[in-house]
Formats: sequence, structure tokens, C-alpha cells
Amino acid sequence: MASPPQATVENPRVLPPNHTHTTFAQFIQRAASVCSPDNVTPTICTPCTTRGSSSPRQSYVCPRDVGEVQSILRLCNELTMPIWPYSAGRNTGYGGTAPRVPGSVALDIGKHMNKILEVDVEGAYALVEPGVTYMDMHKHLEETGLLKELWLDVPDLGGGSMIGNAVERGVGYTPYGDHFMMHCGMEVILPTGELVRTGMGALPDPTASSRSDLRPDQQAGNKCWQLFNYGFGPYNDGIFSQSSLGIVTKMGFWMMPNPGGYQAYMITFPRDEDLGAIVDIIRPLRLTDPLSESEQDEIAKKLKLGRWIFYGAVYGPEPVRNVLLDAIKGAFLSIPGSKFYLPEDRDEPHSVLRTRAKTLQGIPTLDELRWVDWLPNGAHMFFSPIAKISGKDASMQYEVTKKRVREAGLDFIGTFTIGMREMLFNRQDEEQKLKARWPIRQLIQDCADRGWGEYRTHLALMDQIANTYNFNDNAQMKLNEKIKNALDPNGILAPGKNGIWPRGYDRNTWAI
Ligand code: ADP
Repeated sequence: MASPPQATVENPRVLPPNHTHTTFAQFIQRAASVCSPDNVTPTICTPCTTRGSSSPRQSYVCPRDVGEVQSILRLCNELTMPIWPYSAGRNTGYGGTAPRVPGSVALDIGKHMNKILEVDVEGAYALVEPGVTYMDMHKHLEETGLLKELWLDVPDLGGGSMIGNAVERGVGYTPYGDHFMMHCGMEVILPTGELVRTGMGALPDPTASSRSDLRPDQQAGNKCWQLFNYGFGPYNDGIFSQSSLGIVTKMGFWMMPNPGGYQAYMITFPRDEDLGAIVDIIRPLRLTDPLSESEQDEIAKKLKLGRWIFYGAVYGPEPVRNVLLDAIKGAFLSIPGSKFYLPEDRDEPHSVLRTRAKTLQGIPTLDELRWVDWLPNGAHMFFSPIAKISGKDASMQYEVTKKRVREAGLDFIGTFTIGMREMLFNRQDEEQKLKARWPIRQLIQDCADRGWGEYRTHLALMDQIANTYNFNDNAQMKLNEKIKNALDPNGILAPGKNGIWPRGYDRNTWAI
């Protein structure tokens, strides 16, 4: 049974569980013979102050193609080496590239596998490799003139990988904002190295069989792979999201056909207590809440903003947009004091409306990174609970969250996107870190007590959150463990991810 690594004072190094410097060196040597020494960085990570927080130095292996991913996974099985895959490795707010088990080898899938394999205008889809970022796709659409035909949906920060974001079930803001819902077809390498194509990809393209010289991953996919999600039989894709059951090497995405026009807007509401009414009028909304109540009112007044700000966009040709905007104004402006703005009505150079106006039409930006400048050396950790969309629940969630953050003596930035929260803390200050961790731990329980659960989380909180999804004596976790042990018998792929511990790990010892 794997036991947590012990760091000695003289030699503060973390090796993977059950490894010695000799067996680790053996792995590195063999990985280098698979991927070439240039693609292996054999650092043993310095112990993190908290297990699960970002490792300052990690060993990296950067496979050059799918065949090398398969060989590395087989090697990991042979030597029982835990491995942590990622695509672009941003994972901002959720742990970056840090593995859950210290000492795990990082598998940088996107460094070399970063091609846009296909953009099909007629079918309005793209097929990409893991290293393709939203920025890359946007640039490609711009350079090829395809932006006129197809729009991308981007998350808050556009530097991440399309596959990395979608497999973690990340979201954006256009009608195509649920990135996992909008994917179609995957190519996945299982922990033991087998290659699978899901959905229609399981039915070979008739032209592929005449090319026996090509590996399966090099063969053309079925023509409907990116058009119809389900194929035949059980739908497998879900088990490869937020998962430690496979490494995704290709993924299809539906894109929004140019809707024929676009208009971003913003509505401000003067009073904190307006929240319930706003949510009852329409679901998505965003909020900001710094400092004391009166200071917040003062700032809102000075910036000509409300205590609550709702951003949105309407899509379609102008007559359609006008009808939609009239309906939206009619609903929201019933709240006394609310004001409606278009981007040209606001002259601040960095207004959130300007950033949102880009995001809402699929243009990637990094503007939100500036939010962390609120404090010197600012950093952040996302807390993202899901609740029913009703005025009552939104107001309750706001109260519960605000109370805990205030108790910790922190300022709070919250945005509701059908229930998301983000908090700021100073990353160089241990006391601040503890302060930030405390309300989140409390909030996970506060939320679970009200039936709200998180949709995604930071590494350090995965066990606690997994434990809240405990219906019927943890039946879902038991199912997840059965699948994990069947597909990954040696427990090498991302052990501990999302609270799922493979057979060789004692969850009671490892959980944090
Ligand atoms: P982004 O750069 O878009 O923020 P990352 O590449 O950091 O995303 O990936 C986020 C997380 O998603 C990783 O920590 C990993 O758990 C999972 N992940 C990313 N890419 C893959 C992949 N190709 N196959 C399986 N899991 C992946």
C-alpha cells in the first residue's frame, strides 16, 4: 500500500510513493529513451508546504505523439509511477499543473501535440489536439478568414487549452458556453495504454482500412465523429471528464455559426437587496462586493456602477436583437434605479463591459487576471457552488458566502454565473493563505448543508468536496472506485484526482 512520502530534513526531496532515487532514475532514463532526453526534465519536486498545493519543481515528460503517450503509460504501469497529465497547464484557480500526489511525474501533453486538425465550416466544428488554446483557435479563425463563419466560445481567461477546459467541464458565456456539452467525439488513451475513439469515432472510416501503415491515432476519423455524439451503446465520454481514467489526445468541438450580428450590454442595479429580484427575472448574473457596505455604495456611485451589475449579449440580425433587447430592458428596468448601458455608453478604458463584450463574442482575453492586482502579490482560488437559480437561493448563497469571507477578514469578489464564486488572497503570506482556506472549508460544509455542491475545485479541496456527494452511503464514489480500479489496476493515472483514490492508496491517509 502506498504511504505518503516522508521528507527528511537534510534532504528535502519528494519522490513518488514507493520509489527510491534509483527506481526514479530508472524511470527517467527509460522515459528519455521513449521521448528523447530533450523532452524529459528529471527534477524531483521539493516538498510543498501543503500536500496538494502547487509544486515548485516537478519532473516533466513531454511526449511528441500519441504513440509516445501510450509507451509512457505502459512504462508507468511497469514501474508503478504516478503520472499527472495536462494540456496547456494553466488550470488557473484550481491548482495549475500541480499533481495531487507529490512526486507524480507531470505529463505535458500539449507541448508538442498542439495542432488544429480540422475546422469544418459546413458542420460548424473543429477537431483539435490538447495543446490548442483558445488564443490559438481564435488566431486561426482570424487568419483563415473563418471568423466570418464560425464563432468560438471562450472562458474568462483565453490562454488555456480547449481540451483542458472542456474535460474539466469549464464554461464560457455565449450560447455555446457549456464546453463539455458542446464537445463531440474524443480520442482517449486508457491508463493501460489502449487507444479508444468514442461515439461515431468507434466506427472506422472506410478509407482508413486501406492504410495499414498508419497507427490507429493517425487514421482518419469517421465522417460523423464530430457530428453525432452518441454512436451506439453506452455513452462513455462522461467518464473521461474531471477524470483519472484516460488521457484525451483529440477532441471535437461544435462552434457557433455566425449568428448574423451581436450586441453586448450591461445593466446596473443600485441596491444590494436587488439581487433576489434580478435572479428571479433572469438567471445568469454577476456581482462585485468589496469593502464595507457604505464604502461599496460610495465606490459604486463614483464609478457609476451599481452594487450589482448584469452583463449580457444578444445574438442575431439587428431586428432580432432589437426585439430581444426591448424584452430584456422591459424585464430588468422594472427594478427601481437600474440603468442600461451599451459599450459605447461607457468611457473607462478597462471597463468589465469592454472585456465582457469581447468574451461574449468568443474573443479570448487575459483581462480578468488584473482582478488579482487588488492586493500586492494577489492570487486566487475558485470556490464554485451550484444552486437552484431562484432569487431566494441566490440571496441565501450570497449571505452565506459573504458571512464566512467577512469572518475571515477578507475582501470578497463574487460572480454568479449560475453560481460561481471567486476569492482573492495574498499568495506570499502564509497567514493570508490560511485565512483564505478557512472560509472555503467552512463554505463547502455550509453549502452542502443547504444542498449546494461545487462543480469543480482546487486540488487541495477535492477530498472534502467528493465527500459531500455522499448520497446512499457514498454509492457514486463506490462506482467511481470500481471503474477506476478496473481501468487503472496499478493506480498510475492522476491518483486522488477528484477524491478518487485507486486501490493501492489508503484514502484515510491521503485525504486532506
Ligand atoms: P487549462 O490550461 O485549459 O486551464 P490544463 O491543461 O491545466 O487546462 O488542464 C486542467 C486539468 O484537466 C488538468 O489538471 C488535468 O486534470 C485535466 N486534463 C487536461 N488535459 C487533459 C487531457 N488531455 N487528458 C486528460 N485530462 C486532462
